[in-house]
Amino acid sequence: MPRTHPRTLRQPVTVTGRGLHFNRPCRVVIRPVEKASGLRFLHEPSGIEIPAKADLVGDLSLSTTLVKDGLRFGTVEHLLAALAGLEIEHALIEVDSDELPILDGSAAPWVEAILAAGARNLPGARRFIKVLRPVEVTEDGRWMRVSPHAGLRIRYTIDFDHPAIGRQSRELSLDPEKFRRELSNARTFCMEQDVEFMRSRGLALGGSLENAVVFAAKGPLNEALRYEDEAVRHKMLDLMGDLALLGAPLLGLVEAHAAGHALHVSLVKALLADTDAWTWSEGGEAIRPRPVFGHRGHSAQPIPA
Ligand SMILES: [Zn+2]
Repeated sequence: MPRTHPRTLRQPVTVTGRGLHFNRPCRVVIRPVEKASGLRFLHEPSGIEIPAKADLVGDLSLSTTLVKDGLRFGTVEHLLAALAGLEIEHALIEVDSDELPILDGSAAPWVEAILAAGARNLPGARRFIKVLRPVEVTEDGRWMRVSPHAGLRIRYTIDFDHPAIGRQSRELSLDPEKFRRELSNARTFCMEQDVEFMRSRGLALGGSLENAVVFAAKGPLNEALRYEDEAVRHKMLDLMGDLALLGAPLLGLVEAHAAGHALHVSLVKALLADTDAWTWSEGGEAIRPRPVFGHRGHSAQPIPA
């Protein structure tokens, strides 16, 4: 049964680090809010406020970048994954740089900070996007689909033509504890041959074995993996962050095959645009259409577990 109250942090929490691509220092303060107003970034140097919404997504080649009023704001997905994974859907995130810290390449340091700050309920009901019928996006053999499901469930498959990664598949019904345990520690990864390519384009300047898994043909250059299938788990983590761009928690099964940020965001946009494919719902119960004899808080049908 999904949580029914919207949540924010109990108190502000500060995290500092350096950005992956431009290696600039960055200080992030995640602040509680007083009413349900979604996840919003405040870029302190410009005063520009950027809601975490799919229609503001710009470049998606390597990470998820939000663009507003000429400001490009990068690598938001791991923090968004941590917040969404812990069901903190309302906060103001103040940032003093253009790229969020990469930290250890996973969502774990964000999760630790958020858990240390604690959570509290906000007034009103938690509003979900409840999927009513399937929506699909495809691109060159890569595909994603979202279909009706009582909670949030993710089924992800990757198939890399690389001996150290290959095909990996995992399926998980999400709740905060499972997110923390099963996904939050999985780190960003890349192939050894990608590193020089990214550096030549002036990217991944802050990248190292401290914040990414680098796969050579024989296996990871890092000392050890955190999960045997860390790569697919990191993809699921990235997807959690990109699903936060829906602007509300999702009730649906999300399937992804060989996807990445671009396809994740395509699916989010396709679902939002197809307004017959979903409805607003409070706690797993559809708000409209309402049963003739029912009223809010009671359902004519049992709520699926
Ligand atoms: Zn990632």
